[in-house]
Amino acid sequence: MGAFRFDTSYARLPGSLFTRLDPEPVRAPRLVVLNRPLALELGLDPDGLDAETLSGNRLPPGATPLAQAYAGHQFGHFAILGDGRAHLLGEHLTPDGRRVDIQLKGSGRTPYSRMGDGRAALGPMLREFLISEAMAALGIPTTRSLAVVATGEPVFRDRVLPGAILVRVAASHLRVGTFQYAAARRDLDGLKALLAHAIARHAPEAANAPNPALALLEATMARQARLVAQWMGVGFIHGVMNTDNMAISGETIDYGPCAFMDAYHPATVFSSIDHAGRYAYANQPRIAHWNIVRFAEALLSLIDPDEGAAIAQAQAVVERFPALFEEAWLAVFRAKLGLATPQDGDRALIETLLQAMADTGCDFTNGFRALAEGQAFPVDARDRPAFRSFDESWRARLAAEGSSEASARTRALTANPALIPRNHRVEAALEAAEGGDLGPFEALLNAVRRPFAPASEDAPLRAPPLPHERIQATFCGT
Ligand code: AMP
Ligand code: MG
Repeated sequence: MGAFRFDTSYARLPGSLFTRLDPEPVRAPRLVVLNRPLALELGLDPDGLDAETLSGNRLPPGATPLAQAYAGHQFGHFAILGDGRAHLLGEHLTPDGRRVDIQLKGSGRTPYSRMGDGRAALGPMLREFLISEAMAALGIPTTRSLAVVATGEPVFRDRVLPGAILVRVAASHLRVGTFQYAAARRDLDGLKALLAHAIARHAPEAANAPNPALALLEATMARQARLVAQWMGVGFIHGVMNTDNMAISGETIDYGPCAFMDAYHPATVFSSIDHAGRYAYANQPRIAHWNIVRFAEALLSLIDPDEGAAIAQAQAVVERFPALFEEAWLAVFRAKLGLATPQDGDRALIETLLQAMADTGCDFTNGFRALAEGQAFPVDARDRPAFRSFDESWRARLAAEGSSEASARTRALTANPALIPRNHRVEAALEAAEGGDLGPFEALLNAVRRPFAPASEDAPLRAPPLPHERIQATFCGT
């Protein structure tokens, strides 16, 4: 149990892909929240993690801070980006043999900052901490949050806010946009190095495939299909699925204006900057597919030196995304209905329920949890008949596979969380934290860390927002 064990393979990649530089020191770092269980999991002594280290003011031995270059399609438009306010401290080797990035976010300007100040505000960093920890507890691949440190410095946004740094732990920070960056610069050496690096970290079996680049594309695509299916299963809306916010590892990354939906509606959007609904709940699979096609384009020169041949091979892979997603989505929602086996017609059954939910404004989380708990759907009594057809089909479907209702409900209890970080609770907790009261944040964090095992005192956190509590829009708050 002890200190960071750094071995930063990224720093050994071609220099075009990153810039070595130290974080900018901050005036008065103060630890706001430390993830002690995560520290222990990583083989780190939580008591050795102080604010000076976690803010980047004091570099731990072996750290090789660097900012990564990347590009990305933002709302469909290509841009050269890069870590404008983040520093990779290094890749830490855990006692159980994993290699994880330790990254500071909000740690100062870099050559990729453009007009930005390199800083982050306390609210959005606490938001990422809370929601990423909730995702992890839900069993959904995600980057993790080790700590949030207040910097003691103000940041200037639409108002003056307290500054903070998030310490993020990730399987890697390779993004679709990392490959796009090298491809846009026609940097074949950079692309080759990225390919080898990504394969070593995320798809070792691809190294021996007949076409390693194609194998990485397939592995990445399969992970994204599963990831987005899991998001759909908990009503999660990422909010900014730009290609720079899609990780090759298959982890959820970059929690900006993301949110969990309360009442079910497929067109739900929260992000204040997503006017066209590009990243609405029901669009997420299509966008993931679109992003994977951008990934394939970036890989073309590695797939085959003959562009036509490369395109044909890439095409044959990416056109399988819809089928892969469908399979993953069906698996997620079958589990939510407590079904033990797949059968034809399951999509129609699931859609019957979702349609009834949409028609009645049923709360997504509480609706599925009610099914698992054997309760009536949580809608007005006059709206209950909307679920009758689903109820009948569901019972017939259980009978057809020989499952009892009780066994189905037992299974469904493990697939339908009782607790998600509801948006109005998140906003209230962050507002209190900005005012210096961490109580609501800690209570919410504790609750969402056991999403499938609610306690009686969690009842208020399980309740959907009252009309006046509903959050209409979420902000990136960068
Ligand atoms: P995001 O919307 O957080 O995914 O960020 C998109 C891009 O903007 C990334 O390249 C970030 O590093 C950069 N960025 C966001 N906020 C800042 C900031 N305050 N200062 C410098 N760069 C930033
Ligand atoms: Mg980003």
